[in-house]
Amino acid sequence: MEMREMLYEGKAKKVYATEDPDLLIVSYKDDATAFNGKKKGTITGKGAINNRVTNFMMQRLEEQGVPTHFVEELNDRETVVKKVEIVPLEVIIRNISAGSFAKRYGVEEGIPFENPTIEFSYKNDDLDDPLINEYHIQALKLATPEEVDTIKKMAFKVNAVMKEFFAQRNVDLVDFKLEFGKTSDGTIVLADEISPDTCRFWDSETHEKLDKDRFRRDLGNVEDAYDEMLKRIIG
Ligand code: ADP
Ligand code: UDP
Repeated sequence: MEMREMLYEGKAKKVYATEDPDLLIVSYKDDATAFNGKKKGTITGKGAINNRVTNFMMQRLEEQGVPTHFVEELNDRETVVKKVEIVPLEVIIRNISAGSFAKRYGVEEGIPFENPTIEFSYKNDDLDDPLINEYHIQALKLATPEEVDTIKKMAFKVNAVMKEFFAQRNVDLVDFKLEFGKTSDGTIVLADEISPDTCRFWDSETHEKLDKDRFRRDLGNVEDAYDEMLKRIIG
């Protein structure tokens, strides 16, 4: 049997080295966490769904000119990706108020914005991923101004492509989190995942939540929501 070195085990995925120093294998788990790991559980089938959904979306985005880390789906849970140096930022785009935005600014959830918003969190579990602005990013040398510009342009492009894609499937794309990384030649690419774990999806007619909020908020039918999103996305 081929031996694989596990480089990292995160909350939702394991990351393995390959013989090629520029490639990694990510393996999606059914483990679910929320509130920075304080709530833990299992969503049966989630790993396979998030693997399929992420790869499908990354391929659609590549077709629309967004460079991504995607290389090849190996099996239902595992995918080969380009190894990148992750820019330690969570890039959050919002089209409709929800979650921490609604809480922070004291507004109800479900208010559509005229223009999408962008915000950054510093990816640091010990600090609970604090909100950060572009000046702080420069001060902490997390990315150059040029890199932040590239990331912003790419994130809005991802939003434009995905909003349209989901609208055709009767789903409102409320908000989502992206991560970007630098390949060995310094190119910024979209990395990590795009899935019901990292996006808020609401049915356009019923406004039913079809994402991880069902787990975070104990709404029930969590597996059904993930299955439904897989069906709407891939058919
Ligand atoms: P977390 O670290 O938040 O618990 P995961 O369980 O999803 O998250 O772990 C996956 C880890 O792999 C994350 O830290 C993510 O930033 C990182 N990652 C995602 N894509 C790549 C890539 N192409 N190259 C290197 N690291 C990546
Ligand atoms: N998100 C994520 N990982 C995080 C934080 C947020 O994938 O560590 C996603 C979340 O699923 C939602 C969007 O980013 O789609 C905005 O999340 P928000 O800031 O509202 O925070 P939350 O309500 O999840 O605490």
